Formats: sequence, C-alpha cells, structure tokens
Amino acid sequence: MDTITPPDLSQPLIISAALTGSSPSKAQNPAVPITPEEIVEAALACREAGASIVHMHVRDDEGKAAGEVWRFARIMELLRASGTDLVINFSTSGGVGRASEEDRLGVVGLGPDIVSFDCGSLNFGSTVFINTPTFLDKLAQECLTHGVLPEIECFEQGHIASALRLIEEGKLDTPCWFQVVLGVRGGAPGTIKQLVQMVDSLPSGTPWSACAIGRAQLPVGLTAMAMGGHVRTGLEDNIFYHKGRLAASNAELVARLRRMADEIGRPVASPTETRALLGLPRTVRVAEPA
Ligand code: ZN
Repeated sequence: MDTITPPDLSQPLIISAALTGSSPSKAQNPAVPITPEEIVEAALACREAGASIVHMHVRDDEGKAAGEVWRFARIMELLRASGTDLVINFSTSGGVGRASEEDRLGVVGLGPDIVSFDCGSLNFGSTVFINTPTFLDKLAQECLTHGVLPEIECFEQGHIASALRLIEEGKLDTPCWFQVVLGVRGGAPGTIKQLVQMVDSLPSGTPWSACAIGRAQLPVGLTAMAMGGHVRTGLEDNIFYHKGRLAASNAELVARLRRMADEIGRPVASPTETRALLGLPRTVRVAEPA
C-alpha cells in the first residue's frame, strides 16, 4: 500500500449484504431470513438501503445450514422474477460440512455473478471448515468455465498466500476480488491491526472488502471504508445493531453504513457501478488441457 498518499474517499463504496449465513437462527434474531421468499425480500430491501451485492446461503426446512443446488436455484428463480439488478453472490461453503462437494461446485453453474471462494481450511466455531487444495482447484476451474467471479474469502493471513499461489499458477483470473473475513473463532481476530496487515498483503490495486463477526463488524467495516476498501455487513456476521439491541433487519445495517459513507464523502456504488469496478461479467475461459 502507498504510505504517503491518503486514501481516496471519492472512490465509490461497494456495500455487500450477507443476509443469512450458516449459523444465526430466528431464535437469536427473528429478522434472520430463512426461507427463499424471506431471503429474496431481504435482498430487495438491502438494495433499497444501498447494498449492491447480496451474499446468500440456504437453509433446510428446519432452518439449519444447507447447501443443495436446488435450494439456490429457487432463490435465483425468485430474484430473476423480481427483475432486480443486484449483483448476486452465492455461498459455496455448503453449510460448513453439510453439503456434498458436488452441490458446493454445482452452485457456480446457476449463473450467479459471484461465488464465495474460501481460500483454505480452518477451525470454525466448534467445527472445521474444510477447503482442500483439490477442492479449490476444482472451484477455481468452475468459476473460469462459467465466467463467475470468485470472492476470495481470507479468514487468516495464510489464505492470502494460498490465493497468491493460485493466481501465480494461472488458476484464478485477475483482477481478483478479496473479502477479508475477521473474527471467526479459529481465524484471524477482528482487530484493526489484523485488517491492516492482511490488506497490506493483497496484490496492489486489487479491489477488496472487509467484514467481521459480532461486535467487530462495525469498527472493521468503518476502518475498511476509511482505508478506501469496500465493506460487508448483514445478519450473517452480526445480529446486533448496538450492544444489547438486535438489528431490526439486514437493511437496517446497510442503511447505517450508507449514512456513514455519506458523512465521509464516499458515494455508494450502484449495482451497475459495482459490476464495472469488479469487471463483471467475467470472460468465460475454456479449460486448458492438463
Ligand atoms: Zn457467507
């Protein structure tokens, strides 16, 4: 990063809304969208509030984490029917151990603009989130084949090194799009120092966003905005608005960031501007013979 030039706050700000995730339940916060209809309603409300990207997971009929392709297909159908211009980002996490590799890879073929690309394994709360090098190679290839942008989620410093290796090997197209994810129990802590260190390790000029879990969400998000990066919010990462006060909706969290962006002079990117900033749609690249 440049050490003498202050961040350019005139850069449009991409706000991503992570609507559901794998963990939060309605028992914890009734506003967490669970059914496809609720998820799409939340997505459209976030668009109104200032988000240009919606990042989505699916749940089973009991509200538990899931990852079947048909569940994502239902959400895609509803989004398309709504006519929204939102940039669609589907999770390939498979509900952290609950979906098959086939389902995790199959999500890419549904035609989202972006899919999550979790660039390594880690302890994740009380479980292990497994992303083997073989799986990542296959996921990278699926992204190239379908012209989908991988959102390279880095939960700790080593994940950035793994991403750089994949770029060097030509398995990921550049420019990439990074999401620095802090505060997962098992990953890098949700501190400003960690954010700055990780962002310093990214390839120069690469667009990046940051998110953090729980009470780290707001300080990390605000710092990312002030650094000239982009920001993710939403109930996937944090169910509270303030300490002791649950967020009323995903859109409420988005609207707060939009107001803060206004105050520091950062225009909020529309979905069209976001597509331009991220080079969407991506070119489809046919697999090279091994
Ligand atoms: Zn997610």
